[in-house]
Amino acid sequence: MSLIIYLDGRFVPEEQAKISVFDHGFLYGDGIFEGIRAYNGRVFKLDEHIDRLYDSAKAIKLAIPMGKGEMVDVVLETLRRNHLRDAYIRLVVSRGKGDLGLDPRKCPGATVLCITAGITLYPPEFYEKGLEVVTVATRRNVPEALNPRIKSLNYLNNILAKLEAARAGVLEAIMLNQEGYVAECTGDNIFIIKQGRLITPPVHVGILEGITRNTVMDLARAKGFTVAEEVFTRFDVYTADEVFLTGTAAEVIPVVNVDGRLIGDGVPGPVTSDLIAAFREYARNQGTPI
Ligand code: PMP
Repeated sequence: MSLIIYLDGRFVPEEQAKISVFDHGFLYGDGIFEGIRAYNGRVFKLDEHIDRLYDSAKAIKLAIPMGKGEMVDVVLETLRRNHLRDAYIRLVVSRGKGDLGLDPRKCPGATVLCITAGITLYPPEFYEKGLEVVTVATRRNVPEALNPRIKSLNYLNNILAKLEAARAGVLEAIMLNQEGYVAECTGDNIFIIKQGRLITPPVHVGILEGITRNTVMDLARAKGFTVAEEVFTRFDVYTADEVFLTGTAAEVIPVVNVDGRLIGDGVPGPVTSDLIAAFREYARNQGTPI
């Protein structure tokens, strides 16, 4: 069945959702996006995602041709038209059509689109057995060049890391920053747990400030855990009691092997399992109703 796509003010069947080859999102990765989830008829942390979208736009001086309230309506209406209650939602705002030069001032209007689709998740066994990941040579973009806080359409940095992970036969890669501190994975944030204390890299290390990351920090604190945003190295990852990743698509997923080192006993740890359950429960019970 063909999906209904929101594109520049219209809801059209997928086959008619066409964008110019002169769109600078396509030509240069000049644009921004969000990945959002709907659970059980509600959109999870919608306002936080919309805020991050507008912050990304601000950072690249991209004028989004509608207000936040209208963008919320776009997401909800696209879900309604596709009769989706559980979905992955992709909002994209590109610089729009311009000429072949780089100059964004020659692009008179942004392109806005919303795709809602079924969810493709990591297979369930990874939540039970845990993931193996590797550290890759590709460093995370330095904030002074392209700040990872901007969720830009230019994901080549992450894709290069993903290619290295694929070559190593694993699904995710740990990326370090320029100083060699752990930054994040290609599409997820990372946490380590040591003696009951949760640690995740601070935003200034050069990461996307994940909405799942922030939610998990809140859930863990509510459970009485100490949560710290601190820089750490691969040594700290190898010697952690538990490691897990967070992201909109993955939710909370355990990591049991990093660069061939077993984490803890090589099986998902109790705190991670507790947080997986807590996150699922929380996500299914709050959000903006569709
Ligand atoms: N880091 C990167 C590079 C990502 O692409 C994502 C996915 N959006 C995340 C972290 C996790 O962020 P969130 O929890 O907001 O999905």
